[in-house]
Amino acid sequence: MSTALPLLTPKPVLAGKDYKEVLRREMDAGKIPLSLGKNCPVQCAFCYELDHSYRETADPPKTTDEDWKYILDYISRKPTDPLQFWCLGGNEYMEWTDLFLHPKAMEWVEDFLKYTDKSIQFFTVGFVHVPKIHQLVAQYPGRINFELSAITMGRYRERLMPHAPSVKHLMKVLDGPAVSSANFYAFDEHTMADDAVAISQVNQRCVLWMGCLTPVKGIKPDTAALMRQGRAHLAGETQRIYDAALPNLQTIHTEAPITAFLNRHRVISLFDSLELEKKDTVVVARSVHKILTMYRKNRAKYLMVPNATLGGDSDCTVLLTFNDIADALTGQKVVHVPKCIMQSGRGQYMDIAGVTLEDFMRKTGVRVRVLGGTAC
Ligand code: SF4
Repeated sequence: MSTALPLLTPKPVLAGKDYKEVLRREMDAGKIPLSLGKNCPVQCAFCYELDHSYRETADPPKTTDEDWKYILDYISRKPTDPLQFWCLGGNEYMEWTDLFLHPKAMEWVEDFLKYTDKSIQFFTVGFVHVPKIHQLVAQYPGRINFELSAITMGRYRERLMPHAPSVKHLMKVLDGPAVSSANFYAFDEHTMADDAVAISQVNQRCVLWMGCLTPVKGIKPDTAALMRQGRAHLAGETQRIYDAALPNLQTIHTEAPITAFLNRHRVISLFDSLELEKKDTVVVARSVHKILTMYRKNRAKYLMVPNATLGGDSDCTVLLTFNDIADALTGQKVVHVPKCIMQSGRGQYMDIAGVTLEDFMRKTGVRVRVLGGTAC
């Protein structure tokens, strides 16, 4: 009879700490931790933060002028790396939101550029002030990387992001020097391709960052169905974009199994460089598992681990958790685990949930050999 494995839960690191601890942790990881003091009011149907229960987060109060002084001072003391872009958003310990909804965000971005010599990047669905954002980009060339999450500008916009800025506003944001890249996705025929043409008409310099969205846990069934429908139209939309011969730099991200297949040479050469033996068990997500069983059959044992923590259709080795691995074990004494799984924003030798390698080994009794490198 099998014994149920203990659930691997991360040790809380924020419990009982002042909210400034959260701010410091974010800043030590290169983030500019503004807070709205509430959940994201935009409530996009596709938001990957709808279920963030896999990681510990805190909810600092709305950032005040005093907090901002503390943040600016703390960041100013950090050495400047000319290649680093400090990130406004994408937090690890705070839930994601569109930080430009903070009434002082534009003013503080200007402070950051004026009082530090550092660069900044941000993601927003477009709540920036026009023309201020264009003025700042012109005034501080090369120091702002503005990634506009346009998502979709056609018939599905209202359904997916009813509280986001209007397309008219987005076009004003795009019409000028501010936006470095715009990301948007395939949902149906004439979605991604039409958006690419529309954006290119007003801005030929921004990178068009395209693809399809992957449903994860927490996404409602009808939204997940729309995301999957987009996958089926990705190739057709891509052909239309190719035929349109747009001058913008473009990148189109495919779904995981195709990405793994396109990267197969890298996956295989990395695998070969590890010089594993036939009896060794290697942990991989579904799409990499397929590549290895196709091209390196029986060269090792491949433990296919579903991305159960993130759920939905996720299929990515980097985003596996120790809990996912524990659930997939079938009596192994030793497993080989890619290091990329334990290089998350939580810290070294921790997965995206904050569970440590040490905890995994102690609670499962399984020894781990850490493999360097990743391919998918
Ligand atoms: S604005 Fe961003 S964080 Fe907010 S709901 Fe939309 S995708 Fe999520």
